[in-house]
Amino acid sequence: MSSNDQFAPGDPVARYQRVEPPVQHQPEPGVQYEMQPVPDLGESSYRGLGRLTGRRALITGGDSGIGGAVAIAFAREGADVAIAHLPEEASDAEHVLEQVRAAGRTGVSLPTDISDPAACRKLVADAVEGLGGLDIVVNNAGRQIAVENVEDLDDEQFEQTFRVNVFANFWITKAALPHLAPGSAIISTASLEAYQPAPDRLDYAASKAAINNLSKGLAQQLADRGIRVNVVAPGPTWTALQVSGGVSDEQMRAFDDESTYQRAGQPAEIAPAYVFLASAEASYISGETLNVNGAMVTP
Ligand code: NAD
Ligand code: MG
Repeated sequence: MSSNDQFAPGDPVARYQRVEPPVQHQPEPGVQYEMQPVPDLGESSYRGLGRLTGRRALITGGDSGIGGAVAIAFAREGADVAIAHLPEEASDAEHVLEQVRAAGRTGVSLPTDISDPAACRKLVADAVEGLGGLDIVVNNAGRQIAVENVEDLDDEQFEQTFRVNVFANFWITKAALPHLAPGSAIISTASLEAYQPAPDRLDYAASKAAINNLSKGLAQQLADRGIRVNVVAPGPTWTALQVSGGVSDEQMRAFDDESTYQRAGQPAEIAPAYVFLASAEASYISGETLNVNGAMVTP
């Protein structure tokens, strides 16, 4: 059992060191293998219990960060996974797919720009073909570009953030529905920002609030089809989002201090929430948001 094994009892605050990141910049979307330090996706720690045996999952943004950790955890729980990512993230995607295949599961890479509705529909069709069906959709891809003043937040950025974070969620979910049998699960990714919007992330935070709201409505609509819809809302987590424009230099230096634990979360700590919500253990849970943020309490 490694020291950060998810079943190891002990002080959760001490499970990981502070990240204390050196200030670093990458163009959007950022590649994880160039980060200092590289985030922990649970490669050496996640142990599955067969909770998703034979399930087939599409995970957007499954190449890195939270989505990458979810892909690895799902595979170790027995699921086959298709991951969507941007073409420039091929190397991060390959790292995750190696882990998926090492778990003995099928891993499919689907380079896609999800800001386009036709591309979202093709993504779902390709995932269904590559996996032989679909049971779980994880809407996880997202963009976050900090802009200090609203006057400098241009219309194109505002729209692109909503296209990737919200519209693609709608397009992908709608395209997936004909393939989802009773017992299927849709899980989207909101944020602490849905409740506590940072002043320099207006478009991002509003998009995350929209995801929460959309999912709660959809959960009710799809209940009689036996499809559960839930949300995971992470707190500050060390991922490529931060180094590709998501936070200011000042915020990056103090990234650990944002959280009540006084350390950033790691993707490996967020992934188990998705496993739980995807699994049949969560049969009576739909329309819920599971906050995974180390005591940064939300309303
Ligand atoms: P990440 O950069 O590792 O993952 C985001 C992914 O989004 C990228 O890997 C990329 O593949 C995908 N993406 C972005 N634009 C895309 C586009 N146009 N087409 C297709 N894919 C696109 O960072 P992460 O932090 O793991 O982000 C995953 C999710 O978690 C996001 O929705 C993010 O908003 C959310 N989140 C992150 C934090 C945090 O602190 N890291 C906190 C709360 C919520
Ligand atoms: Mg990535």
